[in-house]
Parts: sequence; C-alpha cells; structure tokens
Amino acid sequence: MRVTWSGGDLSFRLDPEDEITGKASDEHPVKLATNSCSIGGVPDDAHPDLIAVAAWTVVAPWTRRRVSFDRAVSAEVAAALHDGWGVEAGPVGAQPRQAGRTLAISYSGGADSVAAATIHPEAPFVHFQRVSHPRVPNRWPHYRSDVLARLAATTGREVTTVTSDLEFTLAEPRPGYPEHHAVAAGALLLADQLDLGGLGFGYELGSRWLGGDRYLHRYTPDNPMWAPHGKWGRLFATAGVHLVLPVGGVSEAITMRVALESELRGHVRWCLRGTDGPCRTCGKCLYKELIQAAVERRPLDTPITADRPVARKWLGKPPYGGQEMIEYALARVPGIENTLFAPALDYFEATEESTSWLDHCYPPAIDEIPERWREQAAGFMTAHVGFMTEDEARRVETWGS
Ligand SMILES: [Zn+2]
Repeated sequence: MRVTWSGGDLSFRLDPEDEITGKASDEHPVKLATNSCSIGGVPDDAHPDLIAVAAWTVVAPWTRRRVSFDRAVSAEVAAALHDGWGVEAGPVGAQPRQAGRTLAISYSGGADSVAAATIHPEAPFVHFQRVSHPRVPNRWPHYRSDVLARLAATTGREVTTVTSDLEFTLAEPRPGYPEHHAVAAGALLLADQLDLGGLGFGYELGSRWLGGDRYLHRYTPDNPMWAPHGKWGRLFATAGVHLVLPVGGVSEAITMRVALESELRGHVRWCLRGTDGPCRTCGKCLYKELIQAAVERRPLDTPITADRPVARKWLGKPPYGGQEMIEYALARVPGIENTLFAPALDYFEATEESTSWLDHCYPPAIDEIPERWREQAAGFMTAHVGFMTEDEARRVETWGS
C-alpha cells in the first residue's frame, strides 16, 4: 500500500498482494470502492506519525504486507504497525511525537459520547461530519450528518468539525468507516494544533469489555480495538494520542441516564435519520427507546411492530449484540410482556438483581484510563454511579461463559 497525503486529500495505491475485499479489525469484510478521500478542516502539516496513523485507519483493511508513506515516520510507529498488523512500514526517520496535554472528545452527539463529554466538561470536541464523495454515489442518503453537525455545533462547547468523505472508500456493505477508528482521522490530524495527548470515545462497557458486535457475548479484556494495550491503543499512544474511554466501565443504561441528566440533554441524538427529532422508526431508535424506558421505569413507547425488519434482530434466539441491555430492560420496563419484545422473555430470566451490575461501574475500566485523566473519571463514577461489587464485577468477567 502506498499512501499520499496532500492538501487535505488522502490517496493510496494498492500493491499487488493487497486486496480489494479486506477485513477490518472487527473481522468485518469490507470492499474497496475508491482509492482516495478528503479530510477537511485539518492542517496539512501535522506530525508525520499523525498523518500515518490517520491514513492507517482508512487503509488498514486492504493492506497485506507493507505500507509506504510519502514522508518518513518514527521507528516507534513503524514498530507498532509491525507488531499489531505484521506489516512493514516506512520510510523510517522522523522523531516521535510527544503527547500533548489536552483531552478532546470524539463527539457524535449520541448518548455515549455525551456521557463521556459530561465527565470531562473542559474537553473540546472534535466532530466528524460525513460529506459526499465527488466520484462515489451515495447509496444511503438517509444519514443526516448535517443535522448531527448542527446539533454538535450548538452545544456551547469548543468544537472543531472535520468534514470527510472517507466513508465512501468503502463500497460494501455500505458507506462507513473502513475501521471504527477512522472517526478519529480528523482528530489525529488536529492533535498538534489542539495539543492533544488523549482522545476520548463514548465506547461503553458492552463495546469495550463484553465483545461489542465482534465477540458476541464474550468477555474480552484484550479487545484489539479499544483496550489501551490492544493494537490500536498502542498505535495511537505511539503517536502521542492515548485512547481514553471515560464510560468504558458503564452500561448504556448509565450513559443514557448521565446524558439525559446533563446540560447537553437538548443536544443528544442517537438517530442518524431524524431531522427535527429522532425518527422513531429505525432500529437504533427502537433499541435506545427500550433502554430509555428501562431507565425511566415507564412503558415502551414505539410505533414499531414485531413484523418490521428492524425489530427482527432482537426477536430470534440470543446471543446478539446489546444483549445485556435487552436483559436489563426486560427486568425493568413495565408491561414489556405486552410489547414486541415479549418473545425474548422466553430466553432470559432477568431480574433487577441479576442485572444490577449494569447500574454500576466496572473498576478495571477506570484503572486503564491514563493517569492524567483517571481521577476525574473515578470521581464522577463515585459521585454519580457507584462501583460494582466483586460479585457484580464477576458478572462482567464471566459474561458469555
Ligand atoms: Zn431513528
């Protein structure tokens, strides 16, 4: 893979051994649509390691044996690419970048990133806004990135919006991040300008420790995507931008509650389609409504019926992604037996007691936050959430076994 970065444009050329259909770190097969994209709102002269890591979030799935950049990277970044992915990276020759002092939040506006932002009220935001690609038709026009960018711009927090068409490098299954970390490409390129030493993401307990969508239903302390000691965490740290997961120890019930109790409440938006408000008809709206109903201890309020395709995902046999929250909700939503989730009751014997661990923070998630920002997250959890007991932590560590 040969990578060129110039004036906001990232282009790459495949080597003979590279693949058109590659694999992302979550094992998802991803098919290449085009070999160039742009990233707007960022400086052209970032540290070469930042450019290399940003480019890697885009080209990693399609690279087999080597990657050559158009400027020298540090030996440390080359080593992290070699150790993590087995690729030869070069040319080597730059001094490594020193970590800055600021933590920024990769801010989407969803409940999880709002919760992370609430824990760090002084952190600036970097918001990724999808824009159209000059040569690739948009086959998924429902995504209203303009609406989300407008919400992000009006929170009152310091925000830098990065515009990019990098999701259109991916043809199948549909436009999206080649690697989940590509959402951070702009933040990486801004790291010198913002003096970044850390980038906070809204990945919560399920994504970080319970396998997210990849290792369905299995405890994953060594998650390669989000563990600080995983290959991505090490690569980011080598470029002086540590991965920080302020809400990595709490469930989506907690991030929902924290977000809806926060000053940013009016700016929370998990739905990618709605304009004036959430659309209420997409799968994400259904899943989040279930969690919100559980948190607010009220009946489910949705126009979606069991025959709709978006509902099917949670009506078959488990395991499935987000299963811990389904169990949590089954135990808490009044009248759940009269909703489309009724069939799921057959698979679980969820009670408030058996799901109480999802109301507390898993302590190792705080321990792995870099020291500079750890105390703030720990203090927030102590004051607003509370930590898991040993028995509750064991529920995390035996999840899926
Ligand atoms: Zn929706």
